[in-house]
Amino acid sequence: MKAPICNVCLKSDVLCSNCEQKLEDDEITELEIKVSRILKDLSNEYGSLRDSEIRHVYNTENVLVIVTAEGDGAKVVGRGGEIVKEIADQVNKSIRVVERSEDDREVIKGLLSPAEIRSINTVFKPDGQAQKVVVPDQYRGKVNLSIEELETLVSNITGTDYQISFEE
Ligand SMILES: [Zn+2]
Repeated sequence: MKAPICNVCLKSDVLCSNCEQKLEDDEITELEIKVSRILKDLSNEYGSLRDSEIRHVYNTENVLVIVTAEGDGAKVVGRGGEIVKEIADQVNKSIRVVERSEDDREVIKGLLSPAEIRSINTVFKPDGQAQKVVVPDQYRGKVNLSIEELETLVSNITGTDYQISFEE
């Protein structure tokens, strides 16, 4: 398993000087350390985790978002969601697993699920351009993340700012 912290730290309760430095430099967070260790523990029981890579973990009001490497989402979700259920029990929150695809649209789709994207357009504003993601209004309230949380997550994960808008 590959995680934001090294293999030694995954199995230990303390951090090596390298990982400690990453924490001080805000390259990794306490939450990422905690969730990575939970996943490492679960990898004894669930083999698919051993071959997975965890990139980041983000916290929101209702949901914990786990970002994996591209192609690793299903390995972390587990059969019928069995792994995310275990994590959810331990952290007391819903879990959403998103793959870090090169294609921003795939990342946004993963965060918005079950909602669909109608379009992504460039909009021109007095202070420059912005990317706007339009989601059919029928999905309003069906996504367990707020628009603000979605926009922050998309920006953190992809490095690009997108506005998200539910529209008729
Ligand atoms: Zn370490």
